[in-house]
Amino acid sequence: ITSPRIGELDASTCSLTRTTTPRDVPAPGSPEELSHSYCTDHMVTVRWTAETGWETPQVKPSENLSIPATAGCLHYATQCFEGMKVYRGYDGKLRLFRPDCNGERLSGSAVRSSLPGFQPDELKKLIARLMEVDGPRWLPRDRPGSFLYLRPAMIGNGPHLGVQVPKEALLFIIAVLWPDVSKVKKYGQPGAPQGLRLYASHPDNIRAWPGGFGYAKLGANYGPSLQAHGAAQALGYDQILWLFGAERQVTEAGASNFFVVMHNADTGRLEMVTAPVENQLILPGVTRRSVLELCREKLADRAVGGLAPVQVVERALTIGEIEVAAKEGRLVEAFVSGTANNQYFITPVELIRSGDVDISTLGASGEPAGYASLIKSWLEAIMYGKEQHDWGYVI
Ligand code: PMP
Repeated sequence: ITSPRIGELDASTCSLTRTTTPRDVPAPGSPEELSHSYCTDHMVTVRWTAETGWETPQVKPSENLSIPATAGCLHYATQCFEGMKVYRGYDGKLRLFRPDCNGERLSGSAVRSSLPGFQPDELKKLIARLMEVDGPRWLPRDRPGSFLYLRPAMIGNGPHLGVQVPKEALLFIIAVLWPDVSKVKKYGQPGAPQGLRLYASHPDNIRAWPGGFGYAKLGANYGPSLQAHGAAQALGYDQILWLFGAERQVTEAGASNFFVVMHNADTGRLEMVTAPVENQLILPGVTRRSVLELCREKLADRAVGGLAPVQVVERALTIGEIEVAAKEGRLVEAFVSGTANNQYFITPVELIRSGDVDISTLGASGEPAGYASLIKSWLEAIMYGKEQHDWGYVI
């Protein structure tokens, strides 16, 4: 056993200061929950400086951060974050879903924005310390199937205004009440839409580019994308479908990865196609990776629940191809994946507006074929402990 070197992030040394003024826990569906701003009683903070490395992590009462107006994160976007959830399982246990993937991504995002990296494993251990304190009251055992949203984030909070690599940083983790929209907005029910309506982005507004940082979870990727998102919403669409390049490659949708299930024009083979991660144009979603792995394992060579076997393909895909596939009756289903998206995890898409063309992404029956809903049920079973799986990390 090797102990961490001085200055490495080490969750085992975490200190605890309990609040003396615990907050009320609002009921599900309350205005506090809908506010997306109501935090649990405690938070994790860890300071880093170039001299000391990572200092002792603290679980302490939730409070506002105090940072100098000259702090680098406020001027040069030295910031990154993660989006995760903690689930109360049907077996009474608290679980994270593949938290090592989020630890790795956060550390990678930090390094991309000149902030310090860390051992990815430590993130889940810090979250476990926080949930040992807040879990029992904020995700009670008698509410299986509920979750809290977790937001680990890192900022360059040093006071030096000059443009330079940060010499100080703060890692913090908060747990936030989050509405369970899947219980409110049920796609596919009578009178309700069959899925999301996406608005394809214009060529003069792109989210990511080769050599850029679209593959990292930096706040700097989100602020500049909100203009297009707001415009799409004003036109009645749910999300932007981000296109890239003269050939109009489909990359991802809002804060979600995008998949289309269609028959290959040449071979007739049924494929589930999604943008590749290698060209750095998309965020490598933890849900995306899980969808691909599950489908390769369970759907590549056998039919499940009346759904035909499907081959997963990661490749550049254009909006033109989707349009032609829809016209030729080869398009079977489209869906998005992401931790915090509308119907959380996996949501079907019913329509893409591209220029002045509406592309229906529903299959021949006028409804999603069912791959999205099948995959969602697999993932939920793991998240809520109905299926014991390596991807569920029990706290
Ligand atoms: N793309 C973007 C741009 C996102 O913000 C997210 C949400 N983190 C995703 C994809 C989906 O990632 P994940 O499955 O890890 O939530």
